[in-house]
Amino acid sequence: MHAETRDPARRRFLKLLLALPAAWALGPRLFGRDEFSHADALLAAVEDARRTGRALDPTPDCGDDDEPTPSMTEGPFFTPRSPRRASLLEPGMAGTPIVLSGRVFTRDCKPVSGALLDVWHADDAGDYDNEGYRLRGHLFTDAEGRWRLETIVPGEYPGRTRHYHLKVQAPRGRVLTTQLFFPGEARNQRDRIFDRRLLLAVGDTKDGRVGRFNFVL
Ligand code: FE
Repeated sequence: MHAETRDPARRRFLKLLLALPAAWALGPRLFGRDEFSHADALLAAVEDARRTGRALDPTPDCGDDDEPTPSMTEGPFFTPRSPRRASLLEPGMAGTPIVLSGRVFTRDCKPVSGALLDVWHADDAGDYDNEGYRLRGHLFTDAEGRWRLETIVPGEYPGRTRHYHLKVQAPRGRVLTTQLFFPGEARNQRDRIFDRRLLLAVGDTKDGRVGRFNFVL
């Protein structure tokens, strides 16, 4: 999609092709995977993993998807100086466990090593811990730009669909404040700030529920 706007010749070719009736059927095959959205590609990978029982590919292609990840309001519940940890799970915590993972890329598709991800979200009942650090934590990407966090699926609260809050920052880079959403949520359409570009690819593998997202800074 983004390639079309960068490349006028390709855009003209695409327009011409779309004028032909058969193009609708041929389009996906002609243009390949890079014409699908980031979330669509990840969802396909999750579905494939579910069907075949194979583990998910830990390094999905960056492809043409080099638009920066959209920013979004921080909301009222950010607490600075969260603990560094790879799991926000605590004994007896209510909710559905989920493993969130993905990668952080630059706009020209290079993995960002040592990027900071600070995550905070509501508990299963839709409440934030504003006194302590329950369901708050930060981590850093590895040398391949990979990140991974064990936590729970957040509950809904009045006015908002299900979401995570994040701050993502490359070393010495500017901070991206954003949110991630779940596909197939009835409330997505009624949440005024919901953005489908920030949808996690969510699926169930033999190891449990997973959600994937790649950030582009
Ligand atoms: Fe929130």
